[in-house]
Amino acid sequence: MVNVIKAPEPIAIPVAGSDDSFPVHRVFCVGRNYAEHAREMGHDPDREAPFFFEKHTSALLFAPAPDGANFPYPQKTSDVHHEIELVVALGKGGNDISVEKAFDHVWGYAVGIDFTRRDLQGVAKKAGRPWEIGKSFDHSGPIGMIHPIGESGHMAEGHIRLDVNGERRQDGNLNELIWKIPEIISYLSELFTLQPGDLIFTGTPAGVGPVVKGDVLDGHVEGLSSIRVTVT
Ligand code: MN
Repeated sequence: MVNVIKAPEPIAIPVAGSDDSFPVHRVFCVGRNYAEHAREMGHDPDREAPFFFEKHTSALLFAPAPDGANFPYPQKTSDVHHEIELVVALGKGGNDISVEKAFDHVWGYAVGIDFTRRDLQGVAKKAGRPWEIGKSFDHSGPIGMIHPIGESGHMAEGHIRLDVNGERRQDGNLNELIWKIPEIISYLSELFTLQPGDLIFTGTPAGVGPVVKGDVLDGHVEGLSSIRVTVT
């Protein structure tokens, strides 16, 4: 059988320190997973179960420092926000994964940004509509090289930060995550059959804000390769 149109290119992210790559299956994202960020968005962090949305895999933008990648300012918005996040890469899938076993499913980690068309997301929130157009647009998921856990170890703490034009905008620690990585994996696995290749953006610390054309964003998580994004 012959494909009637050109098949989409598989999406794969390079692995740090090797010529290997990590093929991506899906991209899940956790909402409001740091208390200060939940508060800055007008919510009470103590009263919410974890919740999720997805970005399309084609929205990933490989942006390893030092050169990074260009982020074309997207259409139909005038309020694009940066959200620096730790990304978990799953090497093993499954359903109903226990919190105790969840780390066995992690292959590695990367730095990511969950770019958000905040104005469109705001309209969707008010109208009770899905977040797709606010969250899952082209280039909305910059990501750095994936580090295997052998190298990074399991990540429960460490600085996470984002600078815009050399000025610190977001500064947090992974130990402030409301829902910890094993809890996120366990909870998600009750909702979806997780697959090898699934990525999870784990939420952003406080300090989110708008970007404009010309901005240079430097994202960093302690122990991982940094990312750089230039807004064009
Ligand atoms: Mn986010």
